[in-house]
Amino acid sequence: MIVNSERTIALTCPACQGIQKHTFSLFSISHKPLQLVCSCGFSQGHLRRLNRHFELDVLGIEGERARILLPRGRFFGTPLINLSSPLSGQSLGYLGDPARVQEVVLDGPPEFFLESDDFANPDIMRKVLEILEDLASQDKIRCECEHSSIGIDVYPDQVELVCSYCGSVVKIGASTRQHQERLARVAEIVMEPCTSQFLGEWLKPLT
Ligand SMILES: [Zn+2]
Ligand SMILES: [Zn+2]
Repeated sequence: MIVNSERTIALTCPACQGIQKHTFSLFSISHKPLQLVCSCGFSQGHLRRLNRHFELDVLGIEGERARILLPRGRFFGTPLINLSSPLSGQSLGYLGDPARVQEVVLDGPPEFFLESDDFANPDIMRKVLEILEDLASQDKIRCECEHSSIGIDVYPDQVELVCSYCGSVVKIGASTRQHQERLARVAEIVMEPCTSQFLGEWLKPLT
């Protein structure tokens, strides 16, 4: 089970006008809505998985309801997303990497949003993340140490699966079609405790 990857959503609360942050594990969002409750007690809305998307259903600063559907590749792979109401265009807040969201909440919006440009090949990265997420949702990613606790780190051209208990790392290329095709053939990723290896090598016996 992948448990160590976090996302933060920061939303302006219509009740207290403050910005409330909510941090959750990337793979903890299910079809059961995650309620986003502000520290003032006001329920801002919810986040849930909806087939291949994530649905954010929240109240904007003026109390108007906004529903945003985010494709999961974007939800997983984008360091910072500027959330705005599809109807009014009004800014609702931010979603992304906890450190990035923290930065923008403290410093105000950056001039440029780093999105697809962050990746060597955004399409391949999106697909690789989708494949990994599918595997994770079926409990097909684990480490053989006693307390398998797998997180995912995303780099411009590769992804690293890291066991936060034993430090084991598996690097997965995510910049070429070959990388994607290779990963698509994998039925399960079992990490050896405390070793580092390339998935390409790891796959050799299977091909
Ligand atoms: Zn509030
Ligand atoms: Zn481990």
